[in-house]
Amino acid sequence: MSIDQQANAYIRTISPYQPGKPISQLAREMGIPAEKIVKLASNENPLGMSPRARSALAEASTALARYPDDFVLKQALATHNGLATTQIVLGNGSNDVLDLIARVFLAPGRSAVFSQHAFAVYALATRSTGAESLVAAAQNFAHDLDAMRAAVQENTQIIWIANPNNPTGTLIAQAQLKAFLHALPAHIVVVLDEAYNEYLPLSERYASTDWLNEFPNLVITRTFSKIYGLAGLRIGYALASAEIADLMNRVRQPFNCNTLALAAASAALDDTAFVAQSEALNRAGMEQMRAGLSALGFDYIPSFANFIAFKAGDAVRVNQKLLAQGMIVRPIAAYEMPEWLRVTIGTELENQQFLAALAQAR
Ligand SMILES: *Cc1c(COP(=O)(O)O)cnc(C)c1O
Repeated sequence: MSIDQQANAYIRTISPYQPGKPISQLAREMGIPAEKIVKLASNENPLGMSPRARSALAEASTALARYPDDFVLKQALATHNGLATTQIVLGNGSNDVLDLIARVFLAPGRSAVFSQHAFAVYALATRSTGAESLVAAAQNFAHDLDAMRAAVQENTQIIWIANPNNPTGTLIAQAQLKAFLHALPAHIVVVLDEAYNEYLPLSERYASTDWLNEFPNLVITRTFSKIYGLAGLRIGYALASAEIADLMNRVRQPFNCNTLALAAASAALDDTAFVAQSEALNRAGMEQMRAGLSALGFDYIPSFANFIAFKAGDAVRVNQKLLAQGMIVRPIAAYEMPEWLRVTIGTELENQQFLAALAQAR
């Protein structure tokens, strides 16, 4: 007998999430000094974190003997989004809240719909509850809402949508998204994952939080890991009807968000100057990357986030050659895109270094 045989059958079929390669790991593997390595693999903020978050961290570090108090951050998020605090659920990263939603609504015998090439965590969160994943074919790498609607079965309980999507960077326009919500049976929970929302150009911004009044089956998830530069602290949140938030809080671990993360997130939310600076840097960097990739003859998928996927051809070989030059990007073969690589928009210098390394890696 192997203990492996005793595990839930649906757990045994899960392949673990593959994170971007840490700098320290490449340093060990290749013998490259860590400070020579450029990591553009996990859509982190190249500016680091807001200076206000940094001082909030220092201050909060004196209070770590006490259990965390999430009151201030929930209050700040409620004000920021024009919602009640009862509509907010905090998570240890937004991956944690995705998992809470899955645990509330999915089980063996139920199913969830998501798009081909969609963020990997939807399949993981679904599978870990024993529910079935129904994958709708993408169109031109983007979510095809008609195909997603058609994929819905009688036992479908969640639809996962990433907008913009990772790793493709594609965006569903708000009119289509809203029409989709209207057309859907009201008992199906729609999870709108907006991890990259703050990077959207003004012309593409939409007030999804206003939709919560109209659609009690809608859950919006956001994170402090991307534009706010707090990926290492693990803090994200869901915005939903008070009913759904209450259900999620029943399965949430007490104190799932730590004191440092809560303090830094509250301060980061207030630092609008830092967010604006990060968005502007990304906008310029995206132009630089698009121009550079085109000049080198690579196709790419126009992206609305802080990364861009490009067609590398023999992506394994190109990635190896990039790694050998100390350049970490993200292979996305696991997303059914074996010829593609995803690169995060860095600082102007990092983007330049990436494009130079890519020129050598062809
Ligand atoms: C990065 C990312 C997240 C954020 O994950 P955290 O757990 O908050 O770090 C969520 N959704 C998508 C689509 C992402 O790319």
